[in-house]
Amino acid sequence: MSSTKPTILVTGGAGYIGSHACLALKHAGYDVIILDNLVYGHRDLVEKVLQVKLVVGDTNDRALLDRLFQTHNIAAVMHFAAYTYVGESVTEPAKYYRNNVTGTLTLLEAMLAASVKNFVFSSTCATYGVPETIPIPEEHPQNPINPYGVTKLMVEKILADFDRAYNLKSVFFRYFNAAGADPSGLLGEDHSPESHLIPLVLFTALGKRKSISIFGTDYPTPDGTCIRDYIHVTDLANAHLLGLEYLLKGGDTEVFNLGNGSGFSVKEVIETARTVTQKEIIATECDRRPGDSPILIGTSAKARKILGWSPQYSELTQIISDAWKWHQKRHG
Ligand code: UDP
Repeated sequence: MSSTKPTILVTGGAGYIGSHACLALKHAGYDVIILDNLVYGHRDLVEKVLQVKLVVGDTNDRALLDRLFQTHNIAAVMHFAAYTYVGESVTEPAKYYRNNVTGTLTLLEAMLAASVKNFVFSSTCATYGVPETIPIPEEHPQNPINPYGVTKLMVEKILADFDRAYNLKSVFFRYFNAAGADPSGLLGEDHSPESHLIPLVLFTALGKRKSISIFGTDYPTPDGTCIRDYIHVTDLANAHLLGLEYLLKGGDTEVFNLGNGSGFSVKEVIETARTVTQKEIIATECDRRPGDSPILIGTSAKARKILGWSPQYSELTQIISDAWKWHQKRHG
């Protein structure tokens, strides 16, 4: 059945947040083409769950991009493809600048050549660096403290310049802590290596790890552990859909934070996971992890006001329950 809605190219659509955005696009009736190099993405999820066209390739491959834009009538690009390991970005910055910055620049130039001028970009709260105020608004100064955050900030600057010079319109989303999984249990987070708190806590509940390490218990927070703003990946995906539709209706370039606006400590996450899973989950108190801010919470009032976004799955229990359903299926 042919769709009446336009075709959207989703880079990194086989990855965690990108795959959930593809599902939201599909449900809304868009034709979706995924471009993913499958370094971290999962072919099986695209083929079995999303069932959309997958082109295996790199955003640095200009000839491939030109062919894609010539062959398909693409109305907009959602760009998720990026390397996202903060620690690795410190030890291998070249890899991050080449993929996250040069790859994006190549993609944008291919878009301009094909007169595609709508772009939805995954940025991050890591562009803010150490916050001066909590909750963090979009106009907070941006001083990223690692190369990963710098690459995302560089792309934001490129997008602002491309709007001024070429009228390429973009929405960029600065995510707080993406978490959870599609409530169906069919899509979710599958990083290798995994470094994020919620999946590691759930791996412990599954018996795949002996214990979860708590990185630092001497922070200036009520229980001494770091506080983060966990946002359900399905809520992120819905925001992308709204951002796309805002652009397709002629919206101007804008930046939006995406978070829940409330924070939970590492200990609260572990405790909630114990309740959800009904497992013991042994936790060990360890030294701080370098580079962690004590508290990161964002305001998302702007996305609510301009895009009409409102998170549907904001309870931590729901976020962890959906992640648990997924991990039991995928890794149980
Ligand atoms: N964290 C932890 N143990 C782990 C992994 C993470 O205590 O095994 C803490 C981490 O120090 C941070 C919070 O959990 O305060 C969230 O970390 P995550 O890596 O999930 O996301 P980040 O906030 O770094 O993007």
